[in-house]
Amino acid sequence: MELLKEKIRQEGHVLNDKVLKVDSFLNHQIDPELMMAIGEEFARRFADTGVTKVLTIESSGIAAALTAALKLNVKVVFARKKKSALMNEEAYVTQVHSFTKNETNEVTVLKKFLGAGEKILIIDDFLANGEAAMGLARIVEQAGSEVVGIGIVIEKAFQDGGKRLRESGFRVESLARIATFAGGEVQFAEECVK
Ligand code: 5GP
Repeated sequence: MELLKEKIRQEGHVLNDKVLKVDSFLNHQIDPELMMAIGEEFARRFADTGVTKVLTIESSGIAAALTAALKLNVKVVFARKKKSALMNEEAYVTQVHSFTKNETNEVTVLKKFLGAGEKILIIDDFLANGEAAMGLARIVEQAGSEVVGIGIVIEKAFQDGGKRLRESGFRVESLARIATFAGGEVQFAEECVK
């Protein structure tokens, strides 16, 4: 998605050889126009899958999941990383290791918001090792529903997540795929000269 790639080129900061900071439009401040375009693009790519609900994980996946859900005309649920005192109802729970925080969280979705027989589109902001997406897919499986696709805003193609998810049989669509941060520069996968 050219608009997103241009934004990454202009505003992304490569922190080290594995981490990209995009807090001016995705991870802290949010650019609503870009987020609407991202939602439209996800909706277009997954239009043929019969999505009935979008599932993401708090907090940075929520904006893109919301705009995709709006365009697909379905509801969006976000998995919670911290248990709230208000969540004393039956829930699906799984462990997810966070790439950026290097900690394992117990991730929870209330059963009343994720029934059986749904066609779920998983959305997340970044794909690194695939822990978050795999965790969400486990929750969908626990619910007796089906993952019809996984939409990622920024995939770091040099990490294992994309391979893991695709080899597990999931349809993964990434709006920007990064091949390397070599020399502190973002190089997109399709621009990589071998
Ligand atoms: P994974 O679960 O695929 O290993 O990592 C994806 C999750 O880690 C995303 O939900 C995202 O929040 C975070 N993440 C992974 N890599 C990056 C990165 O380079 N930059 C930022 N801002 N977040 C990342």
